Amino acid sequence: MCRPHAPSLSLPYVEELRNILGPKELRERLYAEGVPRTTLSFYRYVRLTDAPRLRDALFREWTELGVYGRIYLATEGINAQLSIPAQRLDEFRKAIDARPEFADVPFKIAVEDDGMSFLKLTIKVRPKLVADGLADDAFDTADVGQHLDAESFNRLMDEGATVVDMRNNYEALIGHFDGALLPKSDTFRGAVEEMLDKLEDKKGEPVLLYCTGGIRCEKASAWFRHHGFTNVGQLHGGIIDYARQVRAKDLPSKYLGQNFVFDGRLAERITDDVVSKCMQCGTPNDRITNCQQSTCNILFVQCEACATKYADCCSPGCREIHLLPETVQRAWRKGRPSTSSKTKAISDPEGLRLRIREEEERLALSGTLHPELTKLTNEAM
Ligand SMILES: [Zn+2]
Ligand SMILES: [Zn+2]
Repeated sequence: MCRPHAPSLSLPYVEELRNILGPKELRERLYAEGVPRTTLSFYRYVRLTDAPRLRDALFREWTELGVYGRIYLATEGINAQLSIPAQRLDEFRKAIDARPEFADVPFKIAVEDDGMSFLKLTIKVRPKLVADGLADDAFDTADVGQHLDAESFNRLMDEGATVVDMRNNYEALIGHFDGALLPKSDTFRGAVEEMLDKLEDKKGEPVLLYCTGGIRCEKASAWFRHHGFTNVGQLHGGIIDYARQVRAKDLPSKYLGQNFVFDGRLAERITDDVVSKCMQCGTPNDRITNCQQSTCNILFVQCEACATKYADCCSPGCREIHLLPETVQRAWRKGRPSTSSKTKAISDPEGLRLRIREEEERLALSGTLHPELTKLTNEAM
């Protein structure tokens, strides 16, 4: 009787077709690698007839190439954010071009890159590329706005066009186009509706849309046109490619500050302008971070001095938990809901500062903001 070959041990996650390492091991693997990585993104709306099968094929092919990243596939196309060892970029380009559905898709290369953007490769099949909340059969998704390069975008801005940020509120916080309308909403659907309302009387005027990499504007511009806007332009390749064009062609950057990105870097700097304030002390600052208290994890802007003062947390309450021994923290977390995967950000810095003052006062009076902790700490001793 003959036995089948044992699976290769060199690439355990290929056999599984998914990553099986923990976050700590992943980070160690990335540090140990010691080769420069390039972070890039691309998307294409293209009909993919068998997304699950393609997913497995791409996972094998890209694991071999050393790709890490977050990739979404849907019947309507691909949206990919990833990093790759810089010396294998050409090979990756060839592999992409060899697939007719992806051939010649433009790569948007990140301008600021520490190689730490992604720790592993995740490829997911989703019903839609962007969870946009818009019913595709209600409007013509192919009737999109005019694609503009950085130069044309700048020129139209100079001519007085209205500029609209199509990202969520927390993305626009630390950087945006000079004078752009910024959304209050923290969802795409909400931002689109909000902007349609705001621009009700500008349907015949030039309106310029932009987002991180361009993909959201494909839908947003079609939605604007469906609602009677006749002069809609969109920044081709988004802020990421705008930054590259500005550098390559030595154009003035009308985008100020940092570009929020959905990977380990959180943001890439486009210009030295600081357009936001520390949410805790109110001084000009654009250091975006997550509260280190793991059940909070909220996204906010914090200066270095406040990071020290609040132990990288959003509030004295979170600081108190975060500074406890890990065993006590674990006991405290038991029974509490874990953070959801949806990004949450502080949208009311004024309210946060009030809460901080109130918590500091209580802390000074009673010595703790979590009376239940005394019992937990004693038990852990
Ligand atoms: Zn501060
Ligand atoms: Zn917190």
